[in-house]
Amino acid sequence: MVKFISSTFAVIAFIAVANAQAMTGYPKINEIPDVNSPEVQAWLKEIDLTGAPEIPLHKGAPPACPNPPIPNECYWTCDGCAAEDITKCAAPNTWGLTFDDGPSVATPSLLDYLKTQKVSATFFLIGSNVVQYPATVKREIAEGHHLASHTWSHHALTTLTNQQIVAEMKWTEKAVLEATGLRLKYMRPPYGDINNRVRFVLKKLGYIPVDWTGDEFDTKDWEMPGTPIETVVSHFKTSITAYVAGPKTNGFYCLEHDANPMEVAAAKELIPIGQANKVNIANVAQCESDPVGYQPGGTATPPPVGGNSTTVGPQPTGGAQKPGPGNTGSNNATTGPTVGVPKAAAATLTTKVGAISALAMAVAAALFA
Ligand SMILES: [Zn+2]
Repeated sequence: MVKFISSTFAVIAFIAVANAQAMTGYPKINEIPDVNSPEVQAWLKEIDLTGAPEIPLHKGAPPACPNPPIPNECYWTCDGCAAEDITKCAAPNTWGLTFDDGPSVATPSLLDYLKTQKVSATFFLIGSNVVQYPATVKREIAEGHHLASHTWSHHALTTLTNQQIVAEMKWTEKAVLEATGLRLKYMRPPYGDINNRVRFVLKKLGYIPVDWTGDEFDTKDWEMPGTPIETVVSHFKTSITAYVAGPKTNGFYCLEHDANPMEVAAAKELIPIGQANKVNIANVAQCESDPVGYQPGGTATPPPVGGNSTTVGPQPTGGAQKPGPGNTGSNNATTGPTVGVPKAAAATLTTKVGAISALAMAVAAALFA
């Protein structure tokens, strides 16, 4: 009987802890949020969307290129027009390391690896995943990485209304704010799908779009397993060889992902290639010499953007990060500032753990009484 009660208690405790991991009060996972909800209506009242370019919504997931092209649309996906989007890391000889579509079950393994290499990345987070894995998002910040938005549901933004774009961005912003106390500033449009109408709305919300540096720096890791990892690696080797043979005046941004173990495995193959080519590795805030990396209005003080990276700030050409084994080893050797979980997030976590402990003790007392 005692054994049964103990097992029951263990199950109850496990469920309590599991539920504590997920965040509640958010829209359905991976669906476009309802624009008529009180939250979205309140957000819409905060911004003025009058004057938004009247460009027809595209259709498809992701959409096909319009034929004939729409004048003055500046559609990056189809015509390469980037307007004021960031497409290159501003620091010379620098790889702007970014991962899209997380957090996922595969992300902790990537974080373990990045820690050994002492490099800091920007994670373009999907809001639907943030609410499922908030502890991983907290860990990203604690380990010196930089966070940015990749929308709530990963739909192509040119297919959504202006109001839906606001909902996608603000729900994700709210989720990361609740998890970390930080208010996101940079974003990457899913599929690189962005035109002047989408840019208008993003700018009203204070977001800076970050695309990537063209097809040669799309690692195509998302094509696996249809495309073998060897092809992903050789494609990247070709791209980086061409880059280091050039002037290296600007750095570059790659398209990489941390949505599954295959993509994380690819990242572990690609990063050493960059290091062997003596290219600095930095996150978006470092690339753009942005000392904060977040919008004002958060509840926590933004941590230094360098974190545990050996490349604390953009380096001049030739100032390459030490490649190979020199970068492995204890994290105590970091030259960057130590970054902890923001106080607000840590306090919330402590409160939740405390509440669960109290609940568990109360349940145990009741069962054994
Ligand atoms: Zn994506």
